[in-house]
Amino acid sequence: MTQDVHEIYAVRYAHHDRKAHENYIGGDPHDVLQPLAYFVWVIRGPHGTFVMDTGFDAAMAAKRGRLITRPVGEGLAAIGTDPERVQDVIISHLHYDHCGNHDLFPRARYHLQDQEMAYATGRCMCHPHQRIPFELDDVTAMVGKVFAGRVVFHDGVETLAPGVTLHRIGGHSKGLQCVRVQTRRGHVVLAADATHLYAHITEGRVFPVTYNVAETLEGYSTIKKLADSPDHIIPGHDPDVVRRYPAAAPGLEDWIVRLD
Ligand SMILES: [Zn+2]
Ligand SMILES: [Zn+2]
Repeated sequence: MTQDVHEIYAVRYAHHDRKAHENYIGGDPHDVLQPLAYFVWVIRGPHGTFVMDTGFDAAMAAKRGRLITRPVGEGLAAIGTDPERVQDVIISHLHYDHCGNHDLFPRARYHLQDQEMAYATGRCMCHPHQRIPFELDDVTAMVGKVFAGRVVFHDGVETLAPGVTLHRIGGHSKGLQCVRVQTRRGHVVLAADATHLYAHITEGRVFPVTYNVAETLEGYSTIKKLADSPDHIIPGHDPDVVRRYPAAAPGLEDWIVRLD
C-alpha cells in the first residue's frame, strides 16, 4: 500500500485576466475579473516521475495574449525535475495550453487517449469553431511523435503504474483524460480541463469551450467518484489552487504547491 504513495506538485506557468462571464456557458451575473491560471503537474513515486501536460511557450503566449509567469522548464527545475530525463508525459488533451513546448522532453513517451488524437485530426477540425483551442503545430508535433514511436495510446481507463490511473472524461475535448493518483492523503484527481475552476464542478456549470455538454456534466460525477473527497479534486485552471495548498519549498509560494 504505502509503496504506491506519490507526491504531486502543481506548477503554475501562466495567467490570463478575463471577466467571469467568459468562463461559463450562459455567462455570469457578476461583472468581476475571474482570471485563469495555467499549470503543469508533476507526479513522483516509486515507479518514476510522470509529468502531466507540457504547457505553452513564449511564442504561443504572445499569439494567444496570455502572460507567462514562469516558463514550464524553470518550474520543473525548481523542484529538481530535469525535463531531459523525464520518461513519461501524460497529455490530458491537445488544446494549445496543454501540449506545447514540443522539444522540452526529448526522452519522454507521451500518453494520450485514442479519441483525442482522432478528434484533433478528424472531421471535427473541418469546423473553425472546433479548431479554436487547437494549434496545427501542436497536432503535427504529436503526429511526429507517433511516427517516432514515442506515443502510447490509451482507451478509457488505464493503469500507468500502481497508484496512477488514467480516465477518459471527454466533454470539454473528446479524448480529455484526467489522472487519479494515490497519495498519503488518499486518492487525488488531477482533473485538468474536466473542471477548469472549482466553481464548474461544485456548481455544475460548464466552460464555454466544449465538445459535449452532457459528457462534461457526467464527467463531474465520474471525478467525484474517483476522488476521496471534494478536497481531492484539483481543477485545471483555478488560481485558488496555489492559495489552498502549501508551497513545495520556501521561495516557491504562489508558483509551485504540493497537492499530496
Ligand atoms: Zn482545454
Ligand atoms: Zn486548458
